[in-house]
Amino acid sequence: EVILEVRGLGKRYRTPQGDTEALKGIDFSVRRREFVCVIGPSGCGKSTLIRILAGLDQHTDGEALLDGKPIKGPGQDRGMVFQGYSLFPWLTVKKNVMFGPQMNGRGRDEAEHDAMMWLDLVGLEKFADAYPHQLSGGMRQRVAIARALVNQPRILLMDEPFGALDAQTRARMQTHLIDIWKNIDITVLFITHDLDEAIYLADRILVLKAHPGEVQEVIEVPVPRP
Ligand code: ADP
Ligand code: ADP
Repeated sequence: EVILEVRGLGKRYRTPQGDTEALKGIDFSVRRREFVCVIGPSGCGKSTLIRILAGLDQHTDGEALLDGKPIKGPGQDRGMVFQGYSLFPWLTVKKNVMFGPQMNGRGRDEAEHDAMMWLDLVGLEKFADAYPHQLSGGMRQRVAIARALVNQPRILLMDEPFGALDAQTRARMQTHLIDIWKNIDITVLFITHDLDEAIYLADRILVLKAHPGEVQEVIEVPVPRP
């Protein structure tokens, strides 16, 4: 079952200095429950790609389909985790995770129940009443993962989520993410510039190769899972 389908995707930024072609002719698809990593050199358009899939930016060519429907704008069918901890600093950990369900019209008690369930899954139920600044970097990214998953998205979009963590914490977070992924019905698209991270996490690696002025090549590398 294909969840995400990207066909001939292109993005041209217009700037006063002229146009920048950030993506051109990108083709790939992601199946349900797959863990796909995207790697490629700096500036090849990885962040642009994930921002388009998140609905935070608009493509200028081609199409991106989620469950067969064109992506336009953000939606609760996509969970997102970025490198910077995008937690609200003035809300407790629990309220950060409750925010999405409440925006979706879940009642307070239901939202709290959902939040606690996901905080339990990331091992932070004891920190529900703490504030983000009281947590370590790894713990904050675990809260961000809980917050991204609480609305039960179809796909989790992650842009260098562990890029700001030290090597030991990053390794723990990778193991932790794989544990979560194994236990729930979630599809992951994960951007990294770290090949070791991609090999450890992915079922399949998409290598974005920039060819200035031409269609970009996407090389697909299957990774056998140990
Ligand atoms: P990556 O994440 O692979 O490093 P990006 O998606 O950030 O690549 O950038 C791809 C290209 O698009 C780069 O040449 C970058 O300079 C350009 N770019 C990214 N965002 C913008 C923007 N908002 N306006 C103009 N150019 C941009
Ligand atoms: P990083 O070093 O950034 O976070 P961890 O997420 O493992 O990595 O947490 C850092 C510190 O917080 C560790 O010293 C750990 O003991 C403590 N910690 C993390 N999770 C919990 C938890 N669920 N209960 C108690 N302490 C925790």
